[in-house]
Amino acid sequence: MSRLLIIGPPGAGKGTQAVKISERLEIVAISTGDIFRANVKGGTPLGVEAKKYIDAGNFVPDSVTNNMVEDRLAQEDVANGFLLDGYPRTSAQVDALDAMLKAQNVELDAVLQLTADDDELVARLLKRAEIEGRADDTEEVIRHRLSLYNEETRIVVERYEERGIVRKVDGLGAIDEVTERVLAALNVSA
Ligand code: ADP
Repeated sequence: MSRLLIIGPPGAGKGTQAVKISERLEIVAISTGDIFRANVKGGTPLGVEAKKYIDAGNFVPDSVTNNMVEDRLAQEDVANGFLLDGYPRTSAQVDALDAMLKAQNVELDAVLQLTADDDELVARLLKRAEIEGRADDTEEVIRHRLSLYNEETRIVVERYEERGIVRKVDGLGAIDEVTERVLAALNVSA
């Protein structure tokens, strides 16, 4: 289990779980959302471009996102494996990732799908907004991100389901409980 994706709606706890799982498996956690936010904060050209989309809750264009992930996956610390969080989010991104992995002669081991219902997600994100003050955590933008997830990202899960590599995990409950469920779903001891 060294090349993994974690997929789930905004607020499902992907980032939190990604860090815990990657520590347990000794692989790098790569979050496209975090990379974008770091670039926005640093005022890089990528950040300036991405900010327009992120603040409105829209996806950054595939071409921009794919190039960024390709660069990240070429770095040395990825050699032991990776857990990608927040990518791929569209069918075109699935194709792009397939091509990147093929070029490296590697394959995905599993796709973790974290589930949670929309009301719980909105409540969690509004709470996060109070704590972290993310510009895209207003109720209107949250609802938009959720509907984009339901419209666009469902197909991503379906494409990996066809390959038989999706492990579905209930994201409701205490953080450690969810981590245990995830590790069990991967057949990895806690
Ligand atoms: P969320 O909690 O909504 O899942 P993330 O932190 O993963 O948030 O991402 C925040 C924002 O960064 C997204 O709403 C989107 O604008 C941008 N983003 C992140 N990953 C991608 C991606 N794979 N493709 C396009 N845009 C992305």
